Amino acid sequence: MRRILPTIVPTIVPAVLATLLAAASVPAAAAGDDPPVVHSVSDISQQFTFYMDGRFHTQYLAGIGRDVRNWGTLHKADLSNANLLILTAGDPHVPYADESIRHVMRFVREGGTLLLMGDGADPMPPGQAVAEAFDIRFTTGRAVTPLSGVGELAGAAIAFRRGTVLEPGRRWTPLVADAEGRPVLATRRFGKGHVVVGSRGLFGEKPDASDPINADWITPMLVSRADDKAVDPDRRLRPMAAELSREVGPLLVEFHEGTEPYAEAIGEVYNEVRPHLVELTGVEPSPGMIRSLLILPTGGGGFSSGVKIAIGAWWGNYPERRYPMVELIAHEAGHSWVLPYAEPLWNEPIATWLGIKTGQRMGFPEADETLQRQIAKARRHDPDLTQANPLAEDAHRDVVWGKSYFVFEELERRFGPQAMGRYFRTKREVLKPGREGYSMDDCVAVWSQAVGEDLFPWFRSLGFDVEPSRTDLSSAGSGG
Ligand SMILES: [Zn+2]
Repeated sequence: MRRILPTIVPTIVPAVLATLLAAASVPAAAAGDDPPVVHSVSDISQQFTFYMDGRFHTQYLAGIGRDVRNWGTLHKADLSNANLLILTAGDPHVPYADESIRHVMRFVREGGTLLLMGDGADPMPPGQAVAEAFDIRFTTGRAVTPLSGVGELAGAAIAFRRGTVLEPGRRWTPLVADAEGRPVLATRRFGKGHVVVGSRGLFGEKPDASDPINADWITPMLVSRADDKAVDPDRRLRPMAAELSREVGPLLVEFHEGTEPYAEAIGEVYNEVRPHLVELTGVEPSPGMIRSLLILPTGGGGFSSGVKIAIGAWWGNYPERRYPMVELIAHEAGHSWVLPYAEPLWNEPIATWLGIKTGQRMGFPEADETLQRQIAKARRHDPDLTQANPLAEDAHRDVVWGKSYFVFEELERRFGPQAMGRYFRTKREVLKPGREGYSMDDCVAVWSQAVGEDLFPWFRSLGFDVEPSRTDLSSAGSGG
């Protein structure tokens, strides 16, 4: 994981990641012995966020329902055994296709409930086309607090941070209104089903749901509608993967119709990056690693499981700008070189350093700027880079990153441009299968063996709290 927008959590959450990569369903435990009444499909094909990849379900429907994620083209999603479809207003890069809108309308007409969360903006998000299909519109009018429940929600306490008001057609019933009486959440019948449209600001923002999320009324409001359509609890909801793929060199690139325009070019970026990574590290990826690349509908970043990497399709304003994508792909791929023994402290800095070096080798001036900028930031906290211990609990992020880059650059300067490659090769030889854990003490011992010099005194002179007595690995240099 790296550089993330607020909609994506800044660290890999293993459970979320595992779910995501397996595209597996997470059947929530039903309350008591009652079968789950809600089968929901959370769509992340129009816009990827961790919120839609499980957090929404956990916040509002865990214990009541089962949820699967739709990663594939929306109009191909099997909604026959689902009674709740959750959509967001989406990302401007991926319009809601007409076929997908018709698919959603059919689902509702036949009894399903649609929740569409979103806010108006200029220009309007793609979800406006979905809203309009049901005769309601997002607007750019800001909702004025306090908000209050209307009709079936009269008296409900409504928490709300910010968002816009709606412009519903005449068949709509407001559920929540702003201080000026304008609807912020509204509902209507459509065929045998229900549609609920409302501001995203009603549904919580913090990853851990520590902010008010209105679950006390949102959950019953959704369940009472969704359960109008019976689902077969014995028939498993099947997660829907990105259904299109293409072999690009050694990699299987996975995508759907909406992300297809990005797929081939991003796969090619990996093919350009890969030989540089092999040269920089002196080794191939760890066995079995980096088989596939999933194109994510987001500009928010990427992540890696080692075997699969996932890349935000318009990261860093790709394809207008290429360097950020080169750095991101080399970063995420870099994780597949370090496993199964990821560097403590350096798991992310090593990956980005590999991205920067790859960018330098491909001739991007931004690469060197990125490197120098981060080292300069570390010097603001530790002017000659000898004092701050990057391993300290309270070490500043800029020290951890900048000092790491400084160390890698210094090692390459002192021991030759293949120093990092010697380190990777030595690490593969020295760390035997079955080993448990890899500490910074171990890491410095491996570096020492790689370059043929005991580096513990040098690391200690830079403020690193490392000790040869705390590792079982020799720091006697073999010269790698
Ligand atoms: Zn990473």
